[in-house]
Amino acid sequence: MLLAAFFIPTVASAQDPDPIAQLVARLDLEQYKATIKGLTQFGDRRQGTDRNRAAVNWIEAQLRSYGCADVARLRYDYQPSSPAPRPRSDTSRASGGGRYRGVRARTGVNNDSLRQPDARLRALDAQASTPGAREEVYCTKVGSTHPGEMYIVGAHMDGIGWGEAANDDGSGTALVMQLARIFSGSDVRTDRSIRFILWNNEETGLNGSRAYVEQRQGLQGKEDPPGSGKYPEPTWLGMIQHDMMLFDHGMPRGDRTLSPEQRPEADVNIEFQASAKFAAQAHQLAWTFAAANEKYATDYPASVGSHMTNTDSAPFQDLVAAISLRENERGAHIGAGWDPNWHQPTDLYATYSDKDFRLGLNAAQTTLAALAGLVGTTIK
Ligand SMILES: [Zn+2]
Repeated sequence: MLLAAFFIPTVASAQDPDPIAQLVARLDLEQYKATIKGLTQFGDRRQGTDRNRAAVNWIEAQLRSYGCADVARLRYDYQPSSPAPRPRSDTSRASGGGRYRGVRARTGVNNDSLRQPDARLRALDAQASTPGAREEVYCTKVGSTHPGEMYIVGAHMDGIGWGEAANDDGSGTALVMQLARIFSGSDVRTDRSIRFILWNNEETGLNGSRAYVEQRQGLQGKEDPPGSGKYPEPTWLGMIQHDMMLFDHGMPRGDRTLSPEQRPEADVNIEFQASAKFAAQAHQLAWTFAAANEKYATDYPASVGSHMTNTDSAPFQDLVAAISLRENERGAHIGAGWDPNWHQPTDLYATYSDKDFRLGLNAAQTTLAALAGLVGTTIK
């Protein structure tokens, strides 16, 4: 439930400069890129491997270095089920309920190591996943006046495809980490809490976010120990997911190839799911984000859509307002081949230009500004 209407300050005087604009100015393209680059040192970070565990440790160390000291891990067990036979998909309808339009190109997951031409990266991605114990890390900015209520801001840190998972989802993970850095600034005060979480096991079917909902849904809003002012699981006010933030080169061309350049009219796609129990609240949250984009994002606009699907906000969508931010719509665009690097050996840091990285930065500006308003933020 949204407790407070989002309210954008319209006047910034010298005595009372807009704190949201000040926070947005603390985002930096080079720092965002460096965080993505840092994640790619662990290759594709496939769940259930040493490189995935090393990446979780590295993320935790970064969060601590930002001063997001309230760090914890969610532990769960993952046992892959044998793949069910895939039902023949209805090719006219996109996942999530949208409609395909225009030219479609092929999509799929690369499972062939030999399609990775870089021998160093091929070796880095070689260890296979084994079933068993899993961990995912989160940290929390504790609210000053309403610590028992929070927004959850997430991205998945695992990847697949024999590349570096730079865009899917190093780009979302780095966005969430940069927001954790800024909100953890010693001069930043928020009324409500924010939890920054880097999901594991997204690529196997949202297992990390599902485990979180199962384990923690019932703990919401409970002060523990009683009278301590501490809330291990603040009541959920909303869930905001970030998944593939960089690449919006448009629809495949007639020959199924993509433009090599970010299209000038690239946008941040904010999606909610029209069939969710909390669709009305999520719809409102999505437009709050679009308004924040219009006021604070430097380069690229936002578009709102109603077909959120296949991402870690889905397990939350019937419990709380849940949205996702993405480079394109997941169903009708990504599903129609708008991102040729998706789950491919080409999902490398070196694949993307500053125009691509800047789309991710604009998504970060959007979420930072919207959140800052929603949680009530002041700078000392
Ligand atoms: Zn993803």
